[in-house]
Parts: sequence; structure tokens; C-alpha cells
Amino acid sequence: MVELTQSVASLKGVGEKTAKTLEAAGIKTLLDLILYFPRDYERIEALSLRSEQGEEKAKVAARFQSAARPVRTRTGKTLTTLRFDSLRGPIRAAYFNMPYAAKQFTPGQQVLLYGRFKREGKALSVVNPQVLRDMEDERHTPRTLIARYPLKEHLTEHLLRKLVQQVLSGVRIRENLPQDLLESTGYPSLDEALRAIHQPDSPYFERALERLKFQELFAYSMKIQAAKAERREDHTGIVFAMSPRLRAFRDALPYELTLAQRRSIREILTDQKKDRPMNRLLQGDVGSGKTVVALTALFNVVENGRQGLLMAPTEILVQQHAKEARELLTPFDIQVEVLTGSTSAAERRRILTSLKDKAPMVLVGTHALLEGDVEVPALGLVVTDEQHRFGVNQRLLLREKHEGTDVLVMSATPIPRTLALHLYSDLDLSVLDELPPGRQKTRTKVYGPGERQRAYLKVQEEIQKGHQAYVVCPLIEAKEESKLLSVEALTANLQEGPLQKARIASIHGRMKSAQKNELMDAFAQGAYDVLVSTTVIEVGVNVPNATVMVVENAERFGLSSLHQLRGRVGRGAEAAYCLLIFAGASEATKERLDVMAQTTDGFRIAQKDLEMRGSGALFGTNQSGESGLILADFIQDYPLFIEASRWAEIVFSAQNKEHRDIRDEFLATLDDGFHLVCVT
Ligand code: ADP
Ligand code: MG
Repeated sequence: MVELTQSVASLKGVGEKTAKTLEAAGIKTLLDLILYFPRDYERIEALSLRSEQGEEKAKVAARFQSAARPVRTRTGKTLTTLRFDSLRGPIRAAYFNMPYAAKQFTPGQQVLLYGRFKREGKALSVVNPQVLRDMEDERHTPRTLIARYPLKEHLTEHLLRKLVQQVLSGVRIRENLPQDLLESTGYPSLDEALRAIHQPDSPYFERALERLKFQELFAYSMKIQAAKAERREDHTGIVFAMSPRLRAFRDALPYELTLAQRRSIREILTDQKKDRPMNRLLQGDVGSGKTVVALTALFNVVENGRQGLLMAPTEILVQQHAKEARELLTPFDIQVEVLTGSTSAAERRRILTSLKDKAPMVLVGTHALLEGDVEVPALGLVVTDEQHRFGVNQRLLLREKHEGTDVLVMSATPIPRTLALHLYSDLDLSVLDELPPGRQKTRTKVYGPGERQRAYLKVQEEIQKGHQAYVVCPLIEAKEESKLLSVEALTANLQEGPLQKARIASIHGRMKSAQKNELMDAFAQGAYDVLVSTTVIEVGVNVPNATVMVVENAERFGLSSLHQLRGRVGRGAEAAYCLLIFAGASEATKERLDVMAQTTDGFRIAQKDLEMRGSGALFGTNQSGESGLILADFIQDYPLFIEASRWAEIVFSAQNKEHRDIRDEFLATLDDGFHLVCVT
């Protein structure tokens, strides 16, 4: 019997070179191969009159005859022409840069060619057709769906199909969901499901796909259960005292805290008093004042002689947090330090030494804070800001690395509460559902093509009042040679045209972070009227005198991103404006953007966004593995997610032996960075 943990090198037809190629694509074992799921399925049709125009791909059963000697084309490619015979006439298949194309066939061999065929008189021509050899028996079991695999490195679909079939024909995959679950849901066995996913014409295909999605969500929920259970048992937390200066700290703030802020602070301080490590999510819409809540917690940590970390995703945000931290904490003689990629070596050494000496302090920095030589021997709290991409895996890792440390995660992504409860049920939740008073609602207007001038008239008006403006354009990928404006082009365009007299600064990707910070600072101090940039300012930036946000090519942004961007203005007492300019005259685009004009409620916007785009867009998770989900989506498969987390709770509580075994197996593989489908 074949073992799934065996190396792919043990397969027939896998030599050293192929094994290397597979490994480069992350496929080392037979199991990896089975779990290398198709990215898509394609319906294939037999050649019809219509598809003979070369408009659609089709399949044709053909018999190989001969190959012409490769020739060099004018453009320097090699061209090999293969001749086949078929019921539809002779076929000329042209292969470019594949001088060995002929070597795979023997004369008379029956194959199935798949490609765009074009009728040329009696004959058919086709360029680089695929050879679906595993479908030679096509006449007996006509297939209409084929699996399309993601092709990393130098993988070919042909190789993947061949190897997957080889493995599947040699193994029987052990079931790993409990019997009662299978009976109640009616899902096919894991063995059947994994076969079907690679052979989409299986009658089980739909159910198989659902089962595997369920399985991912179930595994995710089991992890959450495990994290939750571990936490219940965990008494390694630091018991913090309540600083007698907390009241003075609050009284020294330049504003009254909102009720929501007070409530959240109370919840956090209560966590700090317990011997159970804090693991809390602070959720609040943009501008709801999360930073001061975190700083209060950090204040108390330092007052207890400990060190606290405040992590933010970008350098600009780090600088801004550091500024606020210094303003509020230095009057209380609390040491505030900043550590990022651009910190000088000498400064870095000084900070690391100070850390090692257990000097109580608040250290603000980028993710680099958690890596390498940064030792934080007296760590008491880690706060991470804007971390909606912070998955359960990272949370477990963080806790492992700093046992007993309190963790506070701040997020401005308004995840609907019901979803948050399932996604983050290993976290306690504090919500800032109230904005500080006196904020004016930002007025949002949508401008179609041709109305651009009007939008910039509004900007001019605001500048004349002494206010400032942001202009944002989408990040352009190198491969896009489209009509989108780059930061540079847009800046030039504005300077020559609609905003001639304005002082314009622009921030773009190729700038060093020190340079970006300088510009940002200068903008914050009023040295510029307009700041042109990509979304680097999306998260957290705070310049109250900026009252206009213009978004160019707004159609390119998700609603949640637009909401975050809009949150950059309306931070002062003045009326603020968000002007969305879109290109292309689509009604659907306008309708989508109009949602922004209708509401400023982040939760409603997130809901709309989710309805339209699925949660992958929100979490940045699809296929990227943060959440471990490959097939399933938290939102699109929401009912399945609820069902999976219900079952995870049942199995985890282990009322019978089978459940207990399955749970233990899960717990054993939990740390292996395992794949969520977790076949063992
Ligand atoms: P976010 O939740 O988006 O991170 P910030 O913490 O950056 O929000 O706060 C936004 C702005 O509101 C900051 O300028 C901050 O000083 C201010 N702020 C925070 N709390 C209050 C409050 N209770 N009253 C007035 N202003 C506040
Ligand atoms: Mg913030």
C-alpha cells in the first residue's frame, strides 16, 4: 500500500528533475499532490460547426500520423508541425518552441486534442493544442468537464493529471470526519470527495466540493475551539495592578472619552487584572478613537514596570502613533521609542540595549518588532493596529512566542457581528460603536466621466478656505498599460490644469520611507495644500485640517477601501467632502459607488461589499493562505461555516470515543502548519 507521506520521487515517471519542479511548486509528498486542487473547471465540447471558426476551444479525437522537421520562423521561434487524422478531416497542429512535441507520440496513437480549431478547406488547423491523453477512453465515458490546475513553476497540466491519477489509483484515503456527521450531512467519504475534485465528471462532484469546503471551515473552527480551550486553561498571564495615575492620565486627555471608549478601556483593564492572558479584538470604525484606548492599556503596562509594543503595518502609521503616544505619555515620564526599517543602526542598538535592560517603555514599530534580534524580556502587551488580516494561525504563533503576553488586536474593518463571533470566537470582542462628538458627516459625491472639472472646483474652494486635500489614485501594476493615472502623471496633470496655484506634494512607491515620512509631516504641518498618493494613506493617517478626499478611478476600489479612505477626512470640526471620480460610463459602477453617497455606516458598507465581492476581498485571504481556506469563503459559504462551527463545537467537546480520537488527531497536527483539509 502506498503511503501518502511518501515523496513524489517514488512515483513512476518522476525523475530528479520533475521532482525538483514539483517541489518548487510546494508539492513534496503524494498528499501534497492530492491536495493540489484545480483552480477551475472547464467545460469542453466536441467540435461543432460553430467552434470550427476558432472561436471556442473544443476537443477532437485524432490519430497521430507524422511530424515535419522543426523550422525556424522569422521571429526566431521554432515551429514544429504535427499531422493527425480525424473523422473531421486531417489536422495540422502547430507547436511553437516545442521542438520535442513529436516525441510524445507514436504513429497511429489515438489521442484527444483540445484547442481552438479552425477550418481551412478540408483540413483543420490548431496552434499548441493540449493533449488530453488521460481521456483516451473518451468514447466510453464522454467527459464534459476538465480540471484546470494552477501552473506554478514549470508544471504542466498533463503532468499533474497523470500523477494525480497515478496516486489516486494506488491509495484509499482514510476518512477523517466522524460517522454521525457524515450520516447527518450525507457527504461523500473523503476518499470519494478527493477523487471527484480531480475528476469533475464524477456524479459526486457537487457534493464532493461542498464536503471539502465544509472540511476547511470545520478545520478552521476546530482551531478556534483549540485556541479557546487553551486559553480557558491558561493561567500564565501577568496580573497587572491598576495604576493610581490612570485617572490623572484620563483627565489630561485633550478631550472627553466617548462612552464606547470608556467601556472598552474598562474591559481591557479588567483583562489586565486577570491571570488569563488577554486576547481581545478592538473593533471600531475609522475615526472612532481606537488609538487612545490602546495607549491607555499601554500606559498601565509601563506603570507596572513592563514593556509594551504597538505594531502598525506602515511606517507612516508608526510615526503617527508615536507622535500621539509621545503627546499623551511623555508628560507622565513614560519612555516612548520607535523602531522601524529606517531606524539608524546606532539608534537601533540603543533601543535594543534599553529593551534588554528591561527598561519600562512603549515601543512603536512595524511588524519587524516581532522578528529576529528584538528581545523584549519584560513584555506585557502587544497591540497590533489595522490587522484585519490577522488570522487564527498568526494569533496562535504570537501567543506561542510570547507566552503569557496580553494581545490586543485593533481593526477598522467592520465585520458584521454575527460573522465576527464565528471568525474570532477565540478572541474577546470590544466594539467602539460611537464616534467622538462634533464630527460632521462627510458629504460624498460621485462624478462621472466629464465631471472631473467640477470635482476639482470644489477642491479649489476648500484650499481657498485654508483647508487641505488628498487625491488618491489606484496602484498601477506594471503590466497595466491602461488609461489609469499614475501618481506622477496625475500630479503633473493637476499642477498644469485644475489646481495650478496649489502646493502639491506626491508620495509614490519608489520613495524611501524617510522621504515619505518627511512629506507626510510637512503635509500635516500645512506646508502643502494637496497630497497625491496611492492608498498608502488608506490606513489610519490623521490630518484634521484635510477636508477633501478625491478618489480618481474610484471604480477600481472596493467599497470598504473607499470607506477607509473617506475616513481620512472629517476628522476636524469643519464640513468635509469625499469626491469619487469614476471612468467608464457603466451604470453598475455608478450604482455601486452611490452606496457611498447614501451611507457613512461602515457596517452597512462592509455588508454591501461582501455581498458583491465575497470575503476574500475583505480579508485578502483567497488562495493566499492567511486563513488556510482554499475552496471555501467565509461569506459566500456562510451557512456552511455556521454548520461547520456547530459541528466543531460538538466534536471538540468529545462526547464519544470517535469524536475524542478525531479531536486528538486535530490537536496533534495543529502545530504542523497543516493544510486545513488535513488528511492524515
Ligand atoms: P481610529 O479609530 O480610526 O484609529 P484614531 O485613534 O486615529 O481613530 O482617532 C481619530 C481622531 O480622533 C484622533 O485625532 C484622536 O485624537 C481623536 N479622538 C479620539 N478620541 C476622541 C474623543 N473621545 N473625542 C474627540 N476626539 C477624539
Ligand atoms: Mg487607527
